[in-house]
Amino acid sequence: MNQVVLNNLLAKVQDKKATQILEIVASEFAVNDIALASSFGAEDQVLLDMLQKVNSQVEVFTLDTGRLPQQTYDLIEKSQEKYGCSFTYMVPDAAELAELLHTKGPNSFRQSVANRKECCQIRKVKPLRKKLSTLKVWICGLRQEQSPTRSDVKPIEWDEANGLIKINPLFDWTEEDVWNYIKSEDVPYSELHDLGYPSIGCQCCTRAIEKGEDARAGRWWWEEPETKECGLHVVDGKLVRKREA
Ligand code: SF4
Repeated sequence: MNQVVLNNLLAKVQDKKATQILEIVASEFAVNDIALASSFGAEDQVLLDMLQKVNSQVEVFTLDTGRLPQQTYDLIEKSQEKYGCSFTYMVPDAAELAELLHTKGPNSFRQSVANRKECCQIRKVKPLRKKLSTLKVWICGLRQEQSPTRSDVKPIEWDEANGLIKINPLFDWTEEDVWNYIKSEDVPYSELHDLGYPSIGCQCCTRAIEKGEDARAGRWWWEEPETKECGLHVVDGKLVRKREA
């Protein structure tokens, strides 16, 4: 991607609202080159709703790790019913997953950080990279407010690690903005959010948090905080955390 093209795009989205950013991106690129990466968390549901209004032809894909909570699959069905849309499922490589299960068993992620990262690589990172290699633009729900490492998230970025443009239409949204949108537009959302799960990922690696706990406390809670990433997002060479990744 030429820096001039990226700067032009950045200038076009300057001071624009999230829906307008999506409209601009949908008009600048062929629909087959754009996709929303969704894990069906609150932010992704906002973006799904917006996309249905802006251009319902834009693909929405998800990483089906095989370990997602039933509530996520229920939400997928609910969303399909509401919007009449379908989703693309990126799944782990069957041979790699079978080898992992055969050699280390189904719960190896609990044994060490290295094993946990290996599981995330096979079930999430590789399927994501495979999908991104077919796109020019991916849309995701990163917000500046989500963590200190997110504070410089921009509406449009060049994703160096994956070689494509990353669009963050909700970059300046607060959590309150997200929930106000969900309520006002009657957007379906995961019932786990009402049960104390700010962050939703694989069922076996996610738990509800107590009042006052950090939002990330419910993810891989047996690990030290600094190891808690799964490799899905890299900004300026640093891994950043995505709530629902
Ligand atoms: Fe594996 Fe847990 Fe990562 Fe899911 S979140 S891919 S189960 S280690």
